[in-house]
Amino acid sequence: MRLRNVTGSDEIIAASKYVVREPETKKGGWKDFFGNTNPIHIEVGMGKGQFLYGMAKENPDINYIGIEKYSTVLLRAIQKMESEEVPNLYFLCEDAKNVTDLFIKDEVDKIYLNFSDPWPKDRHAKRRLPSRQFLERFGQILKKDGTLEFKTDNKALFEFALEELEAAGWEADAVTFDLHKDAEMKKGNIMTEYEEKFSSMGNPIYKYIIHRKNE
Ligand code: SAM
Repeated sequence: MRLRNVTGSDEIIAASKYVVREPETKKGGWKDFFGNTNPIHIEVGMGKGQFLYGMAKENPDINYIGIEKYSTVLLRAIQKMESEEVPNLYFLCEDAKNVTDLFIKDEVDKIYLNFSDPWPKDRHAKRRLPSRQFLERFGQILKKDGTLEFKTDNKALFEFALEELEAAGWEADAVTFDLHKDAEMKKGNIMTEYEEKFSSMGNPIYKYIIHRKNE
C-alpha cells in the first residue's frame, strides 16, 4: 500500500497516545501495559486498522496490537481512534521483521495477517509475511498452541503460503478457498479494508488457520 506522503505523519504518530513509542521497552511486559491479564492478539500489516478496530470493539476482553510499517498509513487508524476510542487497542509503527524485539516467547496468543503484500518476484519471497522466514519469527513470540490466521484474495500468495507450512514446521487447522461462502469459517468474520474492496469485485477470499507442530 503506497499513499502519497502525508505531511507530518511521523510527528502525528510520535505524539499520538494510541501509538506505543519505544515498544521494545514493553517486551515481556505487555500485560502490565494493558493493566490486565487478557490475551494479546496482534495484526501484522494492519493498514488503516478497520479489522482491528472492529475486533477490539467486539472483544473487550482481548488486548489488540496493530503493527504497521508506514506512518502515512497508520495515521488513518489513529484518526478512527480519535473519533471513537477503544481502550483495548494500540498501534506500533514498526517493521514486522523486528517482531522478536517487541514480544517475548509465548507473549502473543494469536496473530493475524490480512491481505499481506504479495511481493510477486521470486527473489523477494522471504519478504512475504506468510513465508517460512516470517513464520519462524512469529513462532518465537506465539504461545504454544496459539494460532495464526491469514486472509488474502491473492491465489498465488495463498498457494505459496500453504506450501511454506511443511518447511516452516506449521500445520493447518482449517483452510478455505472461498471464505464468504464457507458457513463455518465466516462466522464472526470482520472484513478488512482490502477484503471489502476485493470481495465487492467478486474475488473469492482465501483463508487458513495454522498452528506450530509440537516441538
Ligand atoms: N491488513 C490491511 C487490510 O487487509 O486491509 C492492509 C493490507 S495492505 C495490502 C498491507 C499492509 O501491510 C500495508 O499497510 C503495508 O504497509 C503493511 N506492511 C507490509 N509489510 C510490512 C512489514 N514488514 N511490517 C509491517 N507492516 C507491513
